[in-house]
Amino acid sequence: MAHGVVRSAREIRRAVVTGGAGFLGSHLCEQLLERGVEVVCLDNLLTGSPANVLHLMEHPGFRLVRCDVTDYVHVPGPVDLVLHFASPASPLDYLKMPIETLKVGSLGTLHTLGLAKEKDARFVLASTSEVYGDPLVHPQPEDYWGNVNPVGPRGVYDEAKRFSEALTTAYRSSQGIDTGIVRIFNTYGPRMRPDDGRAIPAFIGQALDGRPLTVAGDGSQTRSICYVEDTVRGILEMAASTHAGPVNIGNPDELSMLELARWIVQLTGSESTIGFIDLPVDDPKVRRPDTTRAEELLAWRPSVPSAEGLRRTVDWFAAQREDRAAQAG
Ligand code: NAD
Repeated sequence: MAHGVVRSAREIRRAVVTGGAGFLGSHLCEQLLERGVEVVCLDNLLTGSPANVLHLMEHPGFRLVRCDVTDYVHVPGPVDLVLHFASPASPLDYLKMPIETLKVGSLGTLHTLGLAKEKDARFVLASTSEVYGDPLVHPQPEDYWGNVNPVGPRGVYDEAKRFSEALTTAYRSSQGIDTGIVRIFNTYGPRMRPDDGRAIPAFIGQALDGRPLTVAGDGSQTRSICYVEDTVRGILEMAASTHAGPVNIGNPDELSMLELARWIVQLTGSESTIGFIDLPVDDPKVRRPDTTRAEELLAWRPSVPSAEGLRRTVDWFAAQREDRAAQAG
């Protein structure tokens, strides 16, 4: 294709995106197609939905294949890039599906690395800021090893990702595979599920309904939120490079959960009050990426201010609700 993503001497013409029918995966598929790259999306629809890629179905360069990457991965034809994004990602999902989460992080990563090896493709792993656990270093640089409780409830996700990072690194050092690891921090935007349990869709849904917003603990714990467009651009910069990483991809714009809740009430023009619920076990107290490495290696930094990203996200959720209401009659 005329203008695929150029990675060193090689052009990326055809990419495999696992988890491509999910929130981040669907935006990645869309952006790759936009850049002239053919996309094979592998997804078992565990937490994703064909609705997320419905608008891509007619595109001649797009194919959705329903399959579980923990079973076996086979893709006919050449592949230049494998983006491994399959995994339950919201705490509600991975606490409900602990074994599936551990399997996709271990067996799924093994199989997709095998695919990259077979095709001589670049491999990019979607890791997470959760590898830092409840961090004792703030903000978190990539050389911080983290503070994770392997036998706590969140261990199923955090340790699956830590294992997948180790496996990816081993394939690079022992098999010569061109691998890259991105540690993604909290990302938000259109196509998040309203009921996935993450704070932003939950707060927006509650505010639009006029119900009280449920802030965990006293709301002083912080998160750094990155708009999906910025995250996807950073991931594609990493895919187009030959860097091993890990590289943090996130917005250093840090805010407390209470601030976030108040902001969403304001943006939705809601009359909702703010209520408090129990803090989940092992909930990280702070979270903020050190993005120096992404700036130096990839010349990447987020550009969408949170006020703008949140406004776009609120507008999308409001439009979805109107559509559902219209369909219900
Ligand atoms: P998501 O749940 O919307 O998407 C995950 C997708 O993976 C879904 O479509 C699901 O059906 C698919 N999937 C799960 N198990 C599978 C399997 N065994 N075989 C095939 N497909 C499978 O989640 P998301 O927020 O889009 O996250 C995507 C990736 O990015 C995940 O690996 C997640 O850990 C990582 N990540 C996301 C964030 C974020 O803020 N969204 C932050 C850090 C890391």
